[in-house]
Amino acid sequence: MRPSFASIDLAALQHNYQLARQLARGYSLAVVKADAYGHGAVACARALAAVADGFAVSCLQEALQLRAAGIDGPIVLLEGFFTADELKLCYRHRLWPVIHAHWQIELLEQQAQEQQLVCWIKLDSGMHRVGFFPAEIGAACQRLRACAGIDLQVLMTHLARADEGPNPAASQQIDCARNMAQQQRLALSLSNSAAVLGWPQLHATWSRPGIMLYGANPMLRPHELVASLRPVMSLQSQVIALRELPAGEAVGYGGRFVTRTRSRVAIVAIGYADGYPRHAVDGTPVLVDGQRARLAGRVSMDMLAVDVTEVPQAKVGSKVELWGKQLAADEVAQHADTISYCLFTAVRRVPLLYDQ
Ligand SMILES: *Cc1c(COP(=O)(O)O)cnc(C)c1O
Repeated sequence: MRPSFASIDLAALQHNYQLARQLARGYSLAVVKADAYGHGAVACARALAAVADGFAVSCLQEALQLRAAGIDGPIVLLEGFFTADELKLCYRHRLWPVIHAHWQIELLEQQAQEQQLVCWIKLDSGMHRVGFFPAEIGAACQRLRACAGIDLQVLMTHLARADEGPNPAASQQIDCARNMAQQQRLALSLSNSAAVLGWPQLHATWSRPGIMLYGANPMLRPHELVASLRPVMSLQSQVIALRELPAGEAVGYGGRFVTRTRSRVAIVAIGYADGYPRHAVDGTPVLVDGQRARLAGRVSMDMLAVDVTEVPQAKVGSKVELWGKQLAADEVAQHADTISYCLFTAVRRVPLLYDQ
């Protein structure tokens, strides 16, 4: 079998959730959208089911997958329902849609039922993606409250620049959301991971940590609390070939990497079709037998090359970590001009192996 896989440490996931919950106070939704950021939504949700106050996903399909796996607690649909049929399924499966647009209110009015449906409402406090403007929120809440069975509980907003740490734009969004929630007598949900870590004093009713559950840093800069997070995914493979090359030899497609001296180059059985970023530059760190080595040349679909001149023990069969416990995904992401979110959600083809 191809020696490439992503191992997933569910105890680390539990640890990170507990930390997020402690920092944010109140209730914490574990965000497990996009297959738990590539970590496997069902396994992650099961591992958290006993401790999590609820889960958040991006769409109905993701929620139904969790219900089918026996996840019984609250599930928030971050963009609500997309059609009238989906709204029916929200009732049937007791999902909590976030209402962000007038057309969704119209569907709710048309389908008013005896049965209760917990709803959240989204405020556009400045990100300008979805949600009601501050001037519209009062009327939107009033319409929702007039619908039979609608149990409007939480006002939610999303911060555009929490990853910068405290800044005036984020403060403005927070003040606006607090005012609106108070006016409407609704509980408040503000914090993504960056806000949980960077603004732990926010203490709104519901936090929504995502990336920090998986052990990565959402902040633009290093952050002291990130050291307390434990990486959950380790993307691993093995050396399947080694070659000694004289100075001046080009390696891989386009000959991007050229040996400067006599070099040893290891070929690893993982590539961009597994989710390793093709944009990683020469010098991107790769761990070979626990030692740092450097990516050499363009990443291929199924393989990549690493300069192991300074890792003399490297041999065919050496273990390779692309990111994980000893090499932060954030560091690899920086070398590929991307973010850990993108690395994790791109992982495919390799099996996910669970530690617990
Ligand atoms: C994805 C998402 C989150 C989680 O964000 P992280 O940066 O991963 O913590 C929170 N809220 C909303 C609305 C989201 O879409």
